[in-house]
Amino acid sequence: MTQNEKNSMQRLVDELNDYAYRYYVLDDPAVTDDVYDKLYDELLALERDVGERLPDSPTARVGGEPISAFLPHTHISRLYSLDKCRSFDELREWAAKAVKAADGEEIAFTLEYKLDGLTLCVTYENGIFRGAATRGNGVTGEDVTEQARTIRSIPMRIDFRGVTEAKGECIMRRSAFRKYNETAEEPLKNPRNGAAGALRNLDPSVTAKRKLDMIFYDVNYISDDSVRSQEEGVEWLRKNRFKTEKLLVSRDIEEIISAISAVDRDALDFDIDGMVVKVDDYALREKLGFTDKFPRWAIAYKFEAEETTTKVKDVVWQVGRTGKLTPLALLEPVELCGATVRRATLNNYGDILRKKVKIGSTVFIRRSNDVIPEILSAVDGTGSGEVTKPTVCPDCGAPVVENGANLFCTNRESCRTAVIARLAHFVSKDCMDIDGLSTNTLGKFHDYLGVREPYQIYDVTRDDLLTLESFKDKKADNLIAAIEKSKSPRLSAYINAFGIPNVGKKLAYDLSVKYGSVDKLAAASADELAAVDDIGEHIAADITGFFAENRELDGELRRRGVTPLADVVTEGPLGGESVVLTGKLASMPRSKAAEAIQALGGKVQSSVTKETTLVVAGEDAGSKLDKAKAAGIRVIGESEFLSLINA
Ligand code: NAD
Repeated sequence: MTQNEKNSMQRLVDELNDYAYRYYVLDDPAVTDDVYDKLYDELLALERDVGERLPDSPTARVGGEPISAFLPHTHISRLYSLDKCRSFDELREWAAKAVKAADGEEIAFTLEYKLDGLTLCVTYENGIFRGAATRGNGVTGEDVTEQARTIRSIPMRIDFRGVTEAKGECIMRRSAFRKYNETAEEPLKNPRNGAAGALRNLDPSVTAKRKLDMIFYDVNYISDDSVRSQEEGVEWLRKNRFKTEKLLVSRDIEEIISAISAVDRDALDFDIDGMVVKVDDYALREKLGFTDKFPRWAIAYKFEAEETTTKVKDVVWQVGRTGKLTPLALLEPVELCGATVRRATLNNYGDILRKKVKIGSTVFIRRSNDVIPEILSAVDGTGSGEVTKPTVCPDCGAPVVENGANLFCTNRESCRTAVIARLAHFVSKDCMDIDGLSTNTLGKFHDYLGVREPYQIYDVTRDDLLTLESFKDKKADNLIAAIEKSKSPRLSAYINAFGIPNVGKKLAYDLSVKYGSVDKLAAASADELAAVDDIGEHIAADITGFFAENRELDGELRRRGVTPLADVVTEGPLGGESVVLTGKLASMPRSKAAEAIQALGGKVQSSVTKETTLVVAGEDAGSKLDKAKAAGIRVIGESEFLSLINA
């Protein structure tokens, strides 16, 4: 290798090792995985070209060295990393090699989520939890037994009486992560980091506060050798009360590929950074063997990164429909999940301080369900321009007041931006759904037609529209038709359109199902409202306060011909679930059970299919139950079903 090649290689190795130290040891990454992976691939390519690698290269080792603050734990069976691919063609190539190793015979593959957390290996002896350890360098990990005890989903007793090491991923659920970050003094960069930092904290009470969870996917060691395939392993874990996730088994790699394409990451409450495909049969795995870093019988198909870093150019304040001022960061454009990101949200001034965001800071941004991504935190010590807290509304110049963590324009009733934001909410898709009413057009409604209140939209005539710039006959006709069409909204959308503080789409739906009309909702007392799920004292007061101040809104809309329709139940405890009933239920006929499922938002199916997510099994359940079990579908008995529908 030339001196030049050696220098470039050493630079890459040093940089990667530095990042790996921050990631694995300090749980405080300096760059996103995407940045790390690109550098890593660069190093791999260089090593391949040159045909050599440096002794301290990260491509030759698994993870990070265990830190000495913890006792070392030697794994019974060594742990590995995973080989990775980013395209389906690479995956097909990998599968073809596995088939070749099986002398061309058909083989079964399994598909699982690649959970983005921290590997944890949990040991049991004679049915009793003996300890837990991180992966570390694969041979030796850190003993985190006391920390693991705080994780409720790790069983302390199992049925199996031999010695076993169950392996899985310790994760922080997205819901727990969001909740934690709402108030944390030091916000977490991402759920993986949250899990790693908490598990590797010397004080187990800190671990407990982070509400970690554990999902198991492998029997890493079992003394009686009774597990002979991945499918058997997951079944064994489930029987021994470990929490597991879905497992697809297929002999057709194309079926595996379609299943990967169908994964909806947003629908999950935990992060995954890909999907893992494994050869099911252990005997065949032995034939395929390992490299020094990963098994040849498994591969991770990596998804596009959901996080990246970029620079903050400026922070501006936006006025919302309630008059609240929200900071918006203007960013140096960066690609994230196939889109160019230019802006990101911050919650309030306190959030800017907690996340240490300054003008010029390098920040971690993360794609969220919303269109605009969120800033997670700034890389320490970057940026120099302090963000100033506004004292007047950037739109109308009225003074600003602080209420809790937020700033509000004191002129909310007539602040132009706040009024237009209220109108925009009213006409949006999940509310009155009026097509063709952009914020720009609403601005014209406000400025030239005097529209201030949502109901006044229904007073606008075709002739009024023709007075506005850019409105010709056809456009005016279309908008009038769209306004007319919006007069029969679902009751939930109608309630959502009111813009009651803290009442979003989901709560509006619950209220519409519970009360059935705005009259009844408006008449409900705060105590009565507070008894509804997800409504606490504050939201109850928001609702009663809103109706006390806006008595006329419903009446004005109805006088203009708006008539809301009752909702069809599609949400609820069984929302999105496809349920199969099998066997005999002692407490009710099947038709009644089916009705109950539908009333809770579920769909009833007659047979177990790929779509099925839940099976209710009564007495003498037969082949449907077997099929469901084989497919890893959740099965509940009659008593659990009854407690679900009576909850
Ligand atoms: P990895 O985490 O990408 O993959 C291997 C791990 O996947 C296994 O150890 C296991 O814990 C986990 N896993 C999750 N679901 C699994 C399943 N169903 N079956 C089997 N295993 C499953 O690889 P790695 O070698 O541990 O770490 C490399 C990763 O860490 C890279 O993606 C890299 O981006 C990241 N990293 C980031 C930084 C940084 O500074 N941001 C630094 C170092 C490493």
